[in-house]
Amino acid sequence: MNGPVAIIGAGLMGHGIAVCLALAGRQVTVHDPDPRQLATLPDRIRQTLVMLEVDAGLADRVRACGDLADAVGESAFVFEAGPELLDVKQRIFESLDRHAPPQAILASNTSAIPIASIGAGVRDRSRVVGSHFWNPPYAVRLVEVVQCDACSSDTVERTIALLTDCRMLPVHVRRDVPGFIGNRLQHALKREAIALVASGVCDAKTLDFVVREGFGARLAVLGPLEQADMIGLNLTLHIHHVLMPHLDNTPLAHPLLAGKVASGATGMAAGTGFSDWTPQEAEAVRERFRRFVTAQGKAALQR
Ligand code: NAD
Repeated sequence: MNGPVAIIGAGLMGHGIAVCLALAGRQVTVHDPDPRQLATLPDRIRQTLVMLEVDAGLADRVRACGDLADAVGESAFVFEAGPELLDVKQRIFESLDRHAPPQAILASNTSAIPIASIGAGVRDRSRVVGSHFWNPPYAVRLVEVVQCDACSSDTVERTIALLTDCRMLPVHVRRDVPGFIGNRLQHALKREAIALVASGVCDAKTLDFVVREGFGARLAVLGPLEQADMIGLNLTLHIHHVLMPHLDNTPLAHPLLAGKVASGATGMAAGTGFSDWTPQEAEAVRERFRRFVTAQGKAALQR
């Protein structure tokens, strides 16, 4: 799909999506109501391009714009990457309905909110779709393209075509379920992880070590259902007969998580979360992630 692309939100994801589009040769306009986010956007994009060892001049393809109507007025496609708050996203989509061309596709990068509720105020909801990128999108290339009831097949196809053209790896999520596919799986794992720590089976660092050095080590090359098919479903069935009654099924955010947030133990930036963190320990984890992102991002450019 040709035509200008706009991004709403110049934060972590808006910046990452802009990098992917610029790498694919697209002209991009990014809107954010926060002037500091707009002012720092070009440098953040340049730093990412330098890290990926590509021409930092590609950042010139991205225009920062403080006026939403101006940013989206000529767009063929709009990616929304504003805060994960339903009322804010609804207001953004109502503005897009007024200011984007009537044929423009309006895509939300929400992590978990149903797309239908985000687009409820758009008159023609056949053009509202989910486009769930992962962080950072230039290294993790999957995008879940989420079809809500009102969304047309044409919108899904055009979204997939644009993403494919930008060397992303889109998949079609056929129903608008909260969390889509990836975050449902990721947070099912987190629910059990928190429950295991809360019940004293292990501490948080042991849990993470088990995931990273155990089944997590092979997840990038062997999905869970491929793995089940490979070892034979009989074994999976036997394991599920024993295990399923014991897995956590807390229907809300786990009290351990809620309690930590209420007491200010919000993670590395606070010095404590599920584990305690010295600044050096936190930096070591961030550096490990940066090395992964750099290697993955460069590898993605070779594909
Ligand atoms: P962020 O906080 O880094 O960026 C959000 C941006 O939205 C900020 O720059 C903020 O100034 C801007 N904003 C605030 N009000 C706005 C408004 N009314 N209109 C337009 N912009 C506004 O957040 P993020 O991590 O980039 O997440 C953005 C979206 O992407 C969220 O829906 C989030 O759930 C989703 N997402 C995040 C990740 C992640 O790992 N961070 C991954 C996938 C999806």
